[in-house]
Amino acid sequence: MSERQTMDVDIVCVGFGPATGGFLTTLLVAQPSGCDLTPPQILCYERADDIGFGVSGVVTRARSIRASFPDLNPAEIPMAAEVRDEKVLYLLDPIGASRRSLALRAADKLIRAFRFALPVDNHALELPFTPGFLHKQGGLVLSIGQFNQWVGQQLMASGVAQIWPGTPVASALIEDDRVAGVRLADQGVDRQGHPEPGYLPGMDIRAALTVVGDGPFGAVGRQLNQHFGMPEGNTQREWAIGMKMVVDLPEGCELEAGTVLHTFGYPEPEIFGFLYVHPDRVASVGIFVPSWMDSPVRTAWRYLQHYIQHPYLWRYLKGAALRSWGAKSLQESGRRGEPRLVGNGYARIGEGSGSTNVLTGSGVDEAWATGAQLGEAVLELLKAGKPFTRENLEATYVRRRRASWIEREGRVAERARDGFHHGVVTGLIGMGLAGLTGGRLWAPGEHVPHYERIPSVLEYYKSKIPAREIARIREECAAKGLSLHDALMERAGWPAIEYDGRLLVTQQDALLMGGKVQAPAGYADHVVFLYPSLCESCGTQICVEICSGQAIAPGPAGVPVFDREKCVHCGACLWNCSQPLAEDPERTNIDLRAGAGGLHSGEN
Ligand SMILES: Cc1cc2nc3c(=O)[nH]c(=O)nc-3n(C[C@H](O)[C@H](O)[C@H](O)COP(=O)(O)OP(=O)(O)OC[C@H]3O[C@@H](n4cnc5c(N)ncnc54)[C@H](O)[C@@H]3O)c2cc1C
Ligand code: SF4
Ligand code: SF4
Repeated sequence: MSERQTMDVDIVCVGFGPATGGFLTTLLVAQPSGCDLTPPQILCYERADDIGFGVSGVVTRARSIRASFPDLNPAEIPMAAEVRDEKVLYLLDPIGASRRSLALRAADKLIRAFRFALPVDNHALELPFTPGFLHKQGGLVLSIGQFNQWVGQQLMASGVAQIWPGTPVASALIEDDRVAGVRLADQGVDRQGHPEPGYLPGMDIRAALTVVGDGPFGAVGRQLNQHFGMPEGNTQREWAIGMKMVVDLPEGCELEAGTVLHTFGYPEPEIFGFLYVHPDRVASVGIFVPSWMDSPVRTAWRYLQHYIQHPYLWRYLKGAALRSWGAKSLQESGRRGEPRLVGNGYARIGEGSGSTNVLTGSGVDEAWATGAQLGEAVLELLKAGKPFTRENLEATYVRRRRASWIEREGRVAERARDGFHHGVVTGLIGMGLAGLTGGRLWAPGEHVPHYERIPSVLEYYKSKIPAREIARIREECAAKGLSLHDALMERAGWPAIEYDGRLLVTQQDALLMGGKVQAPAGYADHVVFLYPSLCESCGTQICVEICSGQAIAPGPAGVPVFDREKCVHCGACLWNCSQPLAEDPERTNIDLRAGAGGLHSGEN
């Protein structure tokens, strides 16, 4: 059997997203200024099969990105455009199927009654202005896939770091409470991880500094959270699944590049949505389904189909064609979900380090900024010849971060979303209060774990579908190996989707179009049901409903089955699972390990 190999480097990075981009670019920019240092040897491992396969089409103020590239010309970055026109829209329900509270129904009636005097157009109320804290004027519409490639090419051409895509990091090497590097995932194993012919144990990469920029739900970040514990009072209980499509807009569509539409109110009041226009009549359109949406069948895929058909958006999207599609979770605890940022031999950057701003809904610029701050800190320590100890990283990286706009704005946003735990209207008031008062006022609400909030399917549909019928639907779906949401939603009033084979396509077709899903052989399953007995007694099986790629299906004896070939690595099953672990109620019965493959699309 092969021996596990070991390699020594100066710095090893986990993940190549905007955070690591900011880190490495800062080191690159410092190079010509010629610190008389021997450049550190840096390796960066990315689990996706290319560095441009990260999912998110974004609008960003790009403050820290522009600071790193003072002469940035958006025309040089594929799919980038300057933000031009920005609108916030409240979408009314044109169908009557969404679950609206009495207060919201009353508000909707008023809006419809006074539509002659209000800016109401195609069942949407345009807010008279975009609140200052939300607006992105002066910013950029980007495709993160294209942006990452643009950044990565410069880094690799410069030799500042070697970036290895298609290489999942299995875990951090923790020795005596010090992180000594990382272990790459084993290859040549069966689905359970047992060696097979051709077994190649993942290499150990030992490094003086391990930079963890593995995003909102990375396995290494979560390992560190478990091993070192979270700072007192901090939890990561707030999440959202973001799902989006990249589309070719129909000919004659009048939307200009740089147009930014933010929406809320439809298909369910809790679902925020967006449409961003790139150059050449290409747009990103998507939704966020948050953890505080109390539905046991919260299916982002099905809701996205209804979202794009809202009359306000459909007049632009009718006739459009799907180019690619993808999904990824967002860590929405923000500053309150901040883990221990540094320790001996390691530092955390980006969304997994709590940098995402939950008031403004932005994470790219913030992630980049934390990476850039760590880059400056590393240069300072290298010049001073000081080691990467917890104290030295605190005094350089954490000090910079605390003194920066990341900390100030993160604090303003900290309680902005608490009100959503009492409903959408309270939540929106809370966001407005926090945004307009610089975080001094907010609507209170307790961050209850999602599994304490999710009602049963019977409870959720009790006013719409008789229990007997739910039992029948359940039986029929189980027999066909299907999730429940399509049948239940249609019975509750949502119209069936009329597929057109271009934009309105089945979930299976979406897996094959544009963002084709691939799963290289020889790796273990990365989605693991930890205690099958918990699944057997789990009434909700929300993992089946939420799964972005239909990779989790009802299984025999009540334990779902996982199909690696369909998994888009969105992370939603990890935090949506409705069963907490007895030994750690902050974790669920699903473990999401480092895995290879996923979506193959460079433009998400
Ligand atoms: C649909 C959607 C829309 C969004 N829209 C916006 C927006 O408009 N504006 C905005 O500012 N933000 C937006 N965001 C949020 C933004 O994308 C994130 O905040 C940002 O990408 C975080 O950057 P990061 O570098 O910290 O993490 P990521 O971008 O998540 O990058 C982490 C990388 O690490 C890799 N990785 C993870 N684990 C491992 C491992 N074990 N081994 C190797 N590699 C690993 C991942 O594959 C990934 O490439 C959106 C997100 C989504 C999902
Ligand atoms: S993984 Fe979680 S949600 Fe899915 S069946 Fe098991 S316990 Fe239920
Ligand atoms: S199985 Fe894969 S695609 Fe499905 S929810 Fe989990 S991570 Fe997402």
